[in-house]
Amino acid sequence: MCIRDSSPLVRGPSRPGETTVDLVAHDGGMRVGVLRLRFGGEVRLTEVEQYKLRTFASAVCTAIRNAQAYAELARIAAENEHAATHDPLTGLPNRRQLYDRAGRLFTDPGHDGLVALLLIDLNHFKEVNDTLGHAAGDDVLREVARRLNNAAEPGDLVARLGGDEFAVLLAGLPTPALAGHRAATMLSALEPEIDVDGMLITVEAAGGIALAAGAGSVEELMRRADIAMYQAKRAGEQTTIYAHARDTTDVDRLMFTGELRRAVSEHEFTVDFQPIVDLGSGEVIAAEALARWKHPDQGDLTPVQFLDAVERSGQLPAFADAVLEQSLLAMKTWREAGFDLPVAVNVSPRSLLDPSFPAAVLARLEHHDVSPTLLILELAETLTISQIDVVEQTLAELRNAGVRLAVDDFGTGVSSLSVLSRIPVHELKIDREFVAAVETVSYTHTTVDLARNLHLTVVAEGVESEPQRRALWELGCVAGQGRLFARPLSAARFVGTLQRGSGGRPGMLASALHDVGAVVRMPARRAAGAGRSSLPHLPA
Ligand code: C2E
Ligand code: CA
Ligand code: CA
Repeated sequence: MCIRDSSPLVRGPSRPGETTVDLVAHDGGMRVGVLRLRFGGEVRLTEVEQYKLRTFASAVCTAIRNAQAYAELARIAAENEHAATHDPLTGLPNRRQLYDRAGRLFTDPGHDGLVALLLIDLNHFKEVNDTLGHAAGDDVLREVARRLNNAAEPGDLVARLGGDEFAVLLAGLPTPALAGHRAATMLSALEPEIDVDGMLITVEAAGGIALAAGAGSVEELMRRADIAMYQAKRAGEQTTIYAHARDTTDVDRLMFTGELRRAVSEHEFTVDFQPIVDLGSGEVIAAEALARWKHPDQGDLTPVQFLDAVERSGQLPAFADAVLEQSLLAMKTWREAGFDLPVAVNVSPRSLLDPSFPAAVLARLEHHDVSPTLLILELAETLTISQIDVVEQTLAELRNAGVRLAVDDFGTGVSSLSVLSRIPVHELKIDREFVAAVETVSYTHTTVDLARNLHLTVVAEGVESEPQRRALWELGCVAGQGRLFARPLSAARFVGTLQRGSGGRPGMLASALHDVGAVVRMPARRAAGAGRSSLPHLPA
């Protein structure tokens, strides 16, 4: 930008006796503005004065241009922020903003009243799209958004979650009962027909309500509202409020917390055992202990349904102890029946943060006179680096005592390789997701190679078919477990299954992949000397 050099002195229209001087600012040949100076009388500017004024005018122009640039930047930033938190079709807040706001309500104890989430799903919306086209569908969605927004109270947040799903975060409710009332008001706003290009469309919707109190997290609140919404749909009702008693998809974590103590003292936690088999020979070489909860009202519960509650409660050490105790008792009975097998026990990451954990494990081994080398601890791969520091000490204590360590669900965590470089383990268990894809995806191949380079034993989880078994074995994976061989069994059924064996051979669960005496292509560097009494040779 520059001020035109030629003749800055201009006698412009002015009051009598005044002089006006226009300093015209140019930028790249474009006139950007004029700085007009008005003097009380006749002036003659010296060259120095002209230079100073030009410099001043130039500075003013630069300042204005900067201010414009900043305003533009701020506008773009606001636009980005808006795009990131709003749904482009309806202009409503999106899922992210809903989660943010709900999360703040959860963490800020200072808010007045109760919080509830209403999930709304339009019924048969797909038909609108299919018969009238997407443009008409979009019109309907925009109108639904407008009506919900109008029906909301100040402080509520109406969001579009995607597709034909909307959510309303209701805040400041004086009583729980009011949530249902407010939801009914929102849904009745959708009842009048919607005019789309002269065509009248009736929108039906189902709503599910969940109260934040007791939900504990935004995700849990969403899950509950979702369950309630599907109940409303199934029952043909307009809205349904989430109720524990009808939540059959998952048993409620909080409800359990009070029952865990009883579960421990009444020995409601039991353990099933799944055989781990030598993939080549079909021989059972170990077992994995899998916890179950024989719940008096709910029946048999699997770990996914209760582990979270156990880990959050104070009952984790008692639970882990119960699992280990039952595993050791089972090992003793199997030993008496002639099967001296190692048992793999799953360990919660939280147990590894407990400094008394190694001593508790070693004491129990000693009490039952079981060698630590017959115990394998399976570690979840999801340990974070910050936890590894603490965990390293715990694991070193166990490892030094002879206990074997395995990384469980390998391939699913993010820090898999860093875990392996920090904690020396003996074994890798390939997650069943990868095993399922073994015949088509080369990832498993890479994993097995990597593990063999680290001299680790590789155990495949979830082996369900003979082709999978063969593919894994050919990759050099020595062991596997899964429905192909056996599902998890009680300790008594486990030993019965071993005694029966396969093809009249006790201790075997499948025929060998090769005939005795036949020429076999052995997978390279496959661990030798796999005997019935232990896992295939593991490097210490
Ligand atoms: P995991 O360690 O990956 O255990 C294997 C899971 O796969 C078991 O589920 C088992 O029943 C299942 N499974 C076995 N064979 C097959 C198959 O052929 N196909 C498929 N699709 N699945 C198969 P389960 O018993 O429900 O255990 C779930 C998870 O709970 C375990 O996953 C483990 O991480 C955890 N867990 C189990 N018992 C304990 C325990 O005592 N303590 C701790 N901390 N965690 C445990
Ligand atoms: Ca496991
Ligand atoms: Ca696993």
